[in-house]
Amino acid sequence: MSNKIIAIDGFASTGKSTISKKLAKHLGFFHFDTGQMYRALTFIAINRKAIINDIINEKIIIDIINNSVFSLSKNSSLSLNENKLGDELRSIYISNKVSKISSIKLVREFMIKEQRKLVKNKNAVVEGRDIGSIIFPNAYKKFFMNADPKVRAKRRFDQLRSIDSEVSFDQVLENVLKRDFIDSNREISPLKKTKGSIEIDTSLLNINQVFNLILKYL
Ligand code: C5P
Repeated sequence: MSNKIIAIDGFASTGKSTISKKLAKHLGFFHFDTGQMYRALTFIAINRKAIINDIINEKIIIDIINNSVFSLSKNSSLSLNENKLGDELRSIYISNKVSKISSIKLVREFMIKEQRKLVKNKNAVVEGRDIGSIIFPNAYKKFFMNADPKVRAKRRFDQLRSIDSEVSFDQVLENVLKRDFIDSNREISPLKKTKGSIEIDTSLLNINQVFNLILKYL
């Protein structure tokens, strides 16, 4: 019997992670957050000075990729070279650079292979930007999440305050809009609603309403 993939793509801070986790738990599937992988590489790229003022040093990026191995544990936690990836990767500092790193061709080619390998033969709810379009075009079901940018920024702002007390609402809104723009306009695997995916606008819905809606479609 073949494995089942549920793809959850969409704009930044539309509630993809919350809904993906809840759905995976309900179905007994793995939860796989591909955004965390891009955030982890961005963290290393910043530390190794592979990105300075938005200028990329490709040599260092290649070296980072060649020395990166991701793993997905039984309880769906992601690690990079055996270091567990945590919520600190969601900081505004990383968010401000991640779309630049994720638009690099070499990075995306690496991610396609890693991501397919990590969920091989597994049932999984996979969230990201290109899951239904590129990574798993034959996914069992595909969803595309959207919401009003101000609503999204407010949700992310409330979440971020617990890990970063300095961050302002305007910074978060600016970051959400900037990432949407870069993610949607990059040359390789841009964020877009793919054929066959079901669009859900979460602006006026709470988590349980989104969850019930998705269950209905499933
Ligand atoms: O989902 P999250 O907001 O954590 O993703 C962070 C960034 O990683 C996105 O803004 C995007 O640039 C990149 N990303 C991507 N493709 C994915 C998942 C995330 O390009 N499948």
